[in-house]
Amino acid sequence: MLLKGKTAVVTGGSRGIGAAIAVSFAENGADVAVVYAGADERAAETVAKAKAFGVRAAAYKCDVADFALVEETFRRIGEDFGHIDILVNNAGVTRDKLLLQMTEEDFDRVLAVNLKGAFNTCKAVCRQMARAKSGRIINISSVSGLMGNPGQANYAASKAGLIGLTKTLAKEYASRGVTCNAVAPGFVATDMTAALPLTDEQIRAAVPLGRMAKPEEIADAVAFLLQSDYITGQVLCVDGGVAI
Ligand code: NAP
Repeated sequence: MLLKGKTAVVTGGSRGIGAAIAVSFAENGADVAVVYAGADERAAETVAKAKAFGVRAAAYKCDVADFALVEETFRRIGEDFGHIDILVNNAGVTRDKLLLQMTEEDFDRVLAVNLKGAFNTCKAVCRQMARAKSGRIINISSVSGLMGNPGQANYAASKAGLIGLTKTLAKEYASRGVTCNAVAPGFVATDMTAALPLTDEQIRAAVPLGRMAKPEEIADAVAFLLQSDYITGQVLCVDGGVAI
């Protein structure tokens, strides 16, 4: 029981990668707070799967882009669980379009959720983690943030921004025992990629390992980073070789 006694908050924990991370935390003994945008049933399913491992789990509907709402939600999570030891910023959206078709609103919304959302949640936990002289923050970036990707000016900028945020928080909080790392997935089989018109052939051509990741394979990388006291400010690509 690696994480027994710890409380983890996973944003975007209702589905896909976030749900796999939340369930893997529960399997390792952590209590889990699942933050999600609107999919009540999916969030309830994740909570039920987590509880099956005998831990405490609850879901919190909260738009991570809303600073005041995040503050209030994390205050409630703190009250409900007593403390927050692990934060995974996984909530993310896409609004893919080539630059000339991308609207200001498309750009602002993706940055607001994917990047400002992580700023908001980090603000909500960092003081408490610093006081406890311990904490783990993992930001789910993307190979798009490292390499760029046509049609994803907003998304790639948000994911590159997350890497800057990760490295900065790693430096600001290292002396307080808080580590901050990023995971950069390539293609993962979730609702997000199901919406893309990708053929198996295109995936095989783009991914040296020839297939998408399962969400659980991203959760394994997050678990690996959590175990280390001595890794901080790093970006771990879990991408089947896409970014080589
Ligand atoms: P997904 O299946 O589309 O799930 C997105 C999750 O984010 C859901 O839990 C959703 O909540 C939540 N969310 C969206 N907007 C939110 C908001 N404003 N406030 C709070 N929660 C919000 O996505 P995924 O594929 O699992 O991706 C998870 C993360 O990995 C994202 O950051 C994504 O950019 C990143 N990533 C994914 C891939 C991939 O290939 N799938 C690759 C690289 C990086 P609801 O269920 O309530 O809507």
